[in-house]
Amino acid sequence: MNIKRVFVANRGEIAVRIIRSCRALNIETVLGVSDADRNSLGAQLADRVICIGPPPSSGSYLNMRAIVAAALAAKADAVHPGYGFLAENAEFAAMCAENGLIFIGPSPDNIRQMGNKLEARSLAAQFGVPVAEGAPRIRTYAEALEAAERIGYPVLLKAAAGGGGRGIRIVRDGKDMQSAFESASAEAQAAFGDNTLFMERYIEKARHIEVQVLADTHGSVVHLGERDCSLQRRYQKVIEEAPAFGLSDDLREKIRQSAVTLAKNIGYRSAGTAEFIVDVERGTFYFLEMNTRIQVEHPVTEEITGRDIVRDQIRIAAGEPLGFTQEDVSFKGWAIECRINAESSVHNFRPSPGTITKWEPPAGPGIRLDTHSFEGYTVPPYYDSLLGKLIVHAESREAAIDGMLKALERFRCEGIETTVPFLKFVLNHPDYQNGLVTTRWLEQTAGQFMAQAQSS
Ligand code: ADP
Ligand code: ADP
Ligand code: MG
Repeated sequence: MNIKRVFVANRGEIAVRIIRSCRALNIETVLGVSDADRNSLGAQLADRVICIGPPPSSGSYLNMRAIVAAALAAKADAVHPGYGFLAENAEFAAMCAENGLIFIGPSPDNIRQMGNKLEARSLAAQFGVPVAEGAPRIRTYAEALEAAERIGYPVLLKAAAGGGGRGIRIVRDGKDMQSAFESASAEAQAAFGDNTLFMERYIEKARHIEVQVLADTHGSVVHLGERDCSLQRRYQKVIEEAPAFGLSDDLREKIRQSAVTLAKNIGYRSAGTAEFIVDVERGTFYFLEMNTRIQVEHPVTEEITGRDIVRDQIRIAAGEPLGFTQEDVSFKGWAIECRINAESSVHNFRPSPGTITKWEPPAGPGIRLDTHSFEGYTVPPYYDSLLGKLIVHAESREAAIDGMLKALERFRCEGIETTVPFLKFVLNHPDYQNGLVTTRWLEQTAGQFMAQAQSS
């Protein structure tokens, strides 16, 4: 293989995850760290560590020049961007290529096309993939009002450059349009440097279903099935599972094929995820966006397919053929992932950074923990609050829920607060157990949980 040394341009659990797959492939790793991450688990596991800048990510994990310079100095062949930070930055991918570094991900063109939701939507529509009724570009508040009249309330205002749930506003009534328009536009400008908005019909009873695809440089595209990521707070995923429950075979297959169609038609390579929204009442589905990177929730797919998606990303970047076909992909059992954050779930999920004084995670058959946390680790206040992801794989959904509850029960973490109490509440909830959830359910349930916690 032409990749012998990988520069890991990320932190936290995903840096550890990438290092593990490199090891399995006998690839050396160089981790770029900020000053705040010099003693991180990733730094302990990597073959070499280079400091790329100060704690704030603008000077380190988002500092393209410093990262490329460090990767070149370390004589790395390739750069893995993980998720977040520069993972979906076309300029960074191009800068790697210009400097002779293999970017472990798709082409800058694909990143650019899919990074703009307006362009992605119109490409999807062009290839026959359904998109929700909407208005392509909303420039003014007056245009927004006019579009909403045509589409019908409720509508969703969304940032074209959006990601991580930012720049999204639901509007149920014309009288709220002006403030929604202004705040979405300001949030998009602050988060992405681009205030372009568009509008979609808001689907009240919706599920978030996404499809993992893998595409090589030899024209093969396969899917690894779908995940349900309907459990979200502030449009951010909290609990994910694979496969998705309660979809008809026909709908499931159509969604999977739509993802493959899109990837094929844009000449995609690497791992990617096409996200869809399913209208539960109408039994229809619509393309939302394509994430051109490894996703936080990739482990649930790995558990039910037996594949190592990070390893596949590296092999694809090295120019190797996938080496298997769609017929070779089979699915076994059920997997659930819980994101565990350093947050106080009883206090409106406020961040809870600090030092972990006790760390005793559950372990055993069917339990996987992707984490960078350990006893004595100090969670820095500069980055997102993910402590780790607990993944349980079992033969059925029922057994996976049962296994997850038992695993959460055994989870001991002291010194900081975590979201484990909230996760237990959710997994115990009959609506969740019976699959009666939509994308708004978790937000309401978080309200119930906090009210209950405060009264007890
Ligand atoms: P995914 O789609 O991979 O499950 P999310 O939808 O939760 O991830 O978030 C989308 C992207 O935004 C991810 O790449 C994630 O790393 C990034 N992200 C989420 N929250 C934050 C944050 N607070 N700061 C920086 N990046 C974030
Ligand atoms: P981001 O880039 O921030 O991840 P997405 O377009 O993927 O933005 O949407 C994030 C979430 O917002 C979805 O998972 C879903 O819960 C909700 N959402 C997006 N579009 C719609 C829609 N048209 N109707 C209802 N909910 C939506
Ligand atoms: Mg999304």
